[in-house]
Amino acid sequence: MEKTLKILVVDDDEVDRMAVRRALTKAGVCMELSEVSNGHDALSALRNTTYDCVFLDYRLPDQDGLTLIQKLRSWEIKVPLVVLTAQGDEEIAVALMKAGATDYLSKSRVSSATLAQILRNAIRVHRAEMQAALANQQLRESHEQLIRKNQELERQRQQIQLQNLKLLEATRLKSQFLATMSHELRTPMNAIIGFSQILLRPKFAQLTHQQADMVERILNNGKHLLMLLNEVLDFSKLEAGRLELKPEFFDLTKVINTTVAEMRSLAEAKKLSLLVQIDIQNPILFNDSVRIRQILVNLLSNAIKFTESGSIWVEAREIPGNHVAIAVRDTGIGIAPKDFKHIFEAFRQVDQSLTRKYPGTGLGLAIIDSLVRMMGGKIFVESQLGAGSMFRIEIPRQISLPTANGNFQTLHLDENTIVCSAQNPHQSTNHHWDVPMSKYK
Ligand code: ADP
Repeated sequence: MEKTLKILVVDDDEVDRMAVRRALTKAGVCMELSEVSNGHDALSALRNTTYDCVFLDYRLPDQDGLTLIQKLRSWEIKVPLVVLTAQGDEEIAVALMKAGATDYLSKSRVSSATLAQILRNAIRVHRAEMQAALANQQLRESHEQLIRKNQELERQRQQIQLQNLKLLEATRLKSQFLATMSHELRTPMNAIIGFSQILLRPKFAQLTHQQADMVERILNNGKHLLMLLNEVLDFSKLEAGRLELKPEFFDLTKVINTTVAEMRSLAEAKKLSLLVQIDIQNPILFNDSVRIRQILVNLLSNAIKFTESGSIWVEAREIPGNHVAIAVRDTGIGIAPKDFKHIFEAFRQVDQSLTRKYPGTGLGLAIIDSLVRMMGGKIFVESQLGAGSMFRIEIPRQISLPTANGNFQTLHLDENTIVCSAQNPHQSTNHHWDVPMSKYK
């Protein structure tokens, strides 16, 4: 059933009002029609009742149609409004449309057909306008919400930036503190070591067996402390980007053999066999031999530290891409896969408790990681809890040289030429791990 439309006719001319009423009735519009004869009554009717359409005579006795439309607008009364104009009022009609009228019709054209059509159109246009206004409103609201969210995000970004700056400053201060402390402590530590060594010389002091034993302990502890201090110093230098590689030509086989020889007594003290297998045709490398030795010492001391029985292998071989691989394997306690990524973090140890069995700073692998990265190499870990671990580094035969702008140059060496190319050694990640390592069982 067709909806009954509430229609208001505003006209001071009784005959014109009747003409509208008749035309609409004749058109079969199902309606409830109200009539008022001036602007004042029209406004109060529109304030109290919601109409589906208003037919408004432009020339009212108390105010013209434009004033009335403006008032409706300022009161935010929204209703389809058809202005009935006298002949020749077309210009006024345009102004009325601009002010907010839905449509206009010359009174001379009022007929059942035109009026019904204008009514339907006005209602449709009004509905479309309302929907558009609603959509606009929603758009405005979501736009405002977006602006608010953006402002909030911007505020959070600034806060994070500030916190980052604070963190950077704290890290810088920490590194500076570590560097200064370890540097300052090294001087007295070197004195302790030096004087202990002098005291232990048979020619210098006639110590009793017990005294010699005590001085030896002082010496060993001093050396251990010095090693820890050096680790801290290296780490703080690496963090600050102040550690530089010093490449030179050297024989890798010799470096491995002498390092293993130095560490052998430690392995023997734990009754561990220490085996070396080097399969390298050309053992000459252009790299930082001191740092490669340091990496080896760290890997070997970890292998010895974390192995209670069994063996430790050091293996070296050439691999494609002009690289060499050096691996240290053990039959020690192993590492759980969940800990793989943490062990390379500074100060991180699998056992973080104060009562942990194995001593150390937790810096060794972090330092190795940085050094290998600086060399443009990679670290691989294979391990299985209770079975053992294998740490393998793969490094280029020819190291990259730092340039003045902080970038690195790679030296490609052959008999006659040296070719340099720039590259950036600071890759984001450098570790690779594989599980399990059942072959060590
Ligand atoms: P540190 O040896 O001073 O604790 P590292 O950085 O060298 O520090 O090693 C970090 C951690 O990685 C060690 O605390 C240990 O938990 C684990 N780890 C390193 N090497 C081995 C290994 N060969 N076997 C078992 N665990 C190891």
